Amino acid sequence: MQRLTEVSSAQAWCRALRARGESLGFVATMGFLHEGHLALVEQAAKDNDHVCVSIFVNPLQFDDPADLERYPRNMEGDASMLEGAGCAMVFGGTLEGFFPGQLDERGELLPEHLVDPGSCALGLEGEYRRGHFVGVATIVQRLFEVVEPTRAYFGAKDYQQCLVVSEVGRRRGGPEVIISPTVREASGLALSSRNARLAAAGREQGLFISRALFAAKELWQQGERNAGILARRMQAVLEESELEVEYAAVRNPEHWSPEEPQAALSQAVALIAAKAQGQNGRVRLIDNMQLS
Ligand code: AMP
Repeated sequence: MQRLTEVSSAQAWCRALRARGESLGFVATMGFLHEGHLALVEQAAKDNDHVCVSIFVNPLQFDDPADLERYPRNMEGDASMLEGAGCAMVFGGTLEGFFPGQLDERGELLPEHLVDPGSCALGLEGEYRRGHFVGVATIVQRLFEVVEPTRAYFGAKDYQQCLVVSEVGRRRGGPEVIISPTVREASGLALSSRNARLAAAGREQGLFISRALFAAKELWQQGERNAGILARRMQAVLEESELEVEYAAVRNPEHWSPEEPQAALSQAVALIAAKAQGQNGRVRLIDNMQLS
């Protein structure tokens, strides 16, 4: 496996491969990898001749500097996991490396280079993490330019992000964006790099998130189609915990809306964001589940 630290070398590596007419699967990550990331890499390895992975803790998508600072990192561990999962090249870089000549004197990206994340960025994550999806759309568009992958793989765990990056892919005419299912612990907790920062009590609190999602799913299976009633079922489960809940909401996945849909739903996805107790400050967790 090639390990590259310059964006320009990664671009040259990808170009050489595409010039030979070979297909390239791409997985964008922020590192501190777990089985959820590896599932994306393995899927990409099945579908393509080669897989490449980026590891970049993108400052543009963090609305809270302390969260960026505390984000876990483990480059050596990540590299050995990727090697075992069939990755041919892993690369990272700096903000300056991704956006040469486009930063101001404070090292921030000039606003004219930011990418519009589209209407799916409105509401929920977009509301609670101001600017987050602008940062996601900007780096993902740049990563797509650098790698020019045949297919790019994202995890359903970050539901709204999947909508945003699919739109970025559509707008520029590729790559094909493929969404892989959320990988969970046996306990139901969705795998996340942030789980490493949970205190023992926070891990227990985190279990209420998937419990609430499954409760909404059960209600859906009993025939409930009202978004408000489904959301209140989740809120009732979450209230039994000491989580600091940001939202527990239901949306129509076919027609994303920032507000709760009023009409009876034919399709539904339930989404939760909540903060659990960490070893050092609270840890923000998100999860979602397709109800239909
Ligand atoms: P991150 O490193 O958190 O930016 O995640 C990189 C990619 O891995 C994103 O497409 C995530 O949606 C995906 N991912 C993270 N956790 C999981 C999980 N538990 N199951 C499936 N995909 C995941």
